[in-house]
Amino acid sequence: MEVSENFQVLLSNPQLSPELKDIAEKVLHNQRITFDEGVLLFEKAELGYLGVLANYIREQKHGDKTYFNRNFHIEPTNLCVYDCKFCSYSRLIRQRSEGWEYTMQEMLDIVKRYDDQAVTEVHIVGGVLPQYDVHFYTELFRSIKAHRPNLHVKALTPVEYHYIFKKAKIDYATGMKLMKDAGLESMPGGGAEIFHPEVRDLIAKDKCNAEQWLAIHEEWHKLGMRSNATMLYGHIEKFWHRVDHMERLRQLQDKTGGFQTFIPLKFRNKDNQMSEVPESTVVEDLRNFAIARIYLDNFDHVKAYWAMISRTTAQLSLNFGVDDIDGTLDDTTKIYSMAGAEEQHPGMSTKQLVELIKNAGRHPIERDTLYNIVTDYNEYQFEEEEKPKYYKLPVIN
Ligand code: SF4
Repeated sequence: MEVSENFQVLLSNPQLSPELKDIAEKVLHNQRITFDEGVLLFEKAELGYLGVLANYIREQKHGDKTYFNRNFHIEPTNLCVYDCKFCSYSRLIRQRSEGWEYTMQEMLDIVKRYDDQAVTEVHIVGGVLPQYDVHFYTELFRSIKAHRPNLHVKALTPVEYHYIFKKAKIDYATGMKLMKDAGLESMPGGGAEIFHPEVRDLIAKDKCNAEQWLAIHEEWHKLGMRSNATMLYGHIEKFWHRVDHMERLRQLQDKTGGFQTFIPLKFRNKDNQMSEVPESTVVEDLRNFAIARIYLDNFDHVKAYWAMISRTTAQLSLNFGVDDIDGTLDDTTKIYSMAGAEEQHPGMSTKQLVELIKNAGRHPIERDTLYNIVTDYNEYQFEEEEKPKYYKLPVIN
């Protein structure tokens, strides 16, 4: 059935309310929905309806293509001067014994471990500590690029940048230019949480606020560079806070066009100060992906982090607006596992990622950080895994 036929079935449903019918007509004609319509979708729209709309947009933009990359993470430290209530990762300075603080050399050694592997990106993000300052990070980026010039450095969020620029007494424009000159190539989307102060002040009080987060991305985009954006959902926020969050992103994107990908992050409740808050259901996760796809009409991509939401939900999300499921990871990130994600040692081979996407009926594409195609895996045949050259003998205990 053609996507537009799905729409005709949906539009001819006599039980569909006039408001939801209007939104469907807008989507069908590539028109932007309003703030109030965004809230209405969260409050009233059923999963099946949202899937039809979001999948229509996803297939208009990308067809069946589903992106992933080959990447690894470096998390410099899990100690942090901040105390975000939802954070399961950070060990405050007083819990230093449970933490790690990598030196420059240790981080470069992690990069060198991948010398013979076809990874395209290193993703660097972690806690905020005074010794990791402007000088440290510019030297780190320079050293990584000197060692492996074609490894894309995607690093740090406005949470770190706001802190280190303030300490260095430099403005955002100067700071981001310094980072670019040192080898930074793009910014991940973290630290956004929920922008509205009603929520942000309760869960992430002291770190950069919404205006500062957005201003740093704006300065980065002015340099002609790209970044991503996230939203931490499914905790104490109301639906309209989510729409407010996406509205602020949509407005900045209209201005700069510098965002590539929107990544909704599911709140996980293990071992943090909000453990009594229940987690969202899978249905709510899928609704949230779909509404993000509908609302953020000026974002090219919506990503589901398979390591955070599980492999099966990542597969399902491909029918609800998602076109990217992130990367191989190689068990190099602890941010999701420490928060209680199903994947306790997140890592998938290229073959596993390709099969996961194909099994969901989609077309796997390995991309680089900027969405240039590295390999199209639709027709690709992996070599047979090497068979053991001997027969294992039974073991008797
Ligand atoms: S979320 Fe980030 S800034 Fe907040 S405490 Fe955790 S590591 Fe620190």
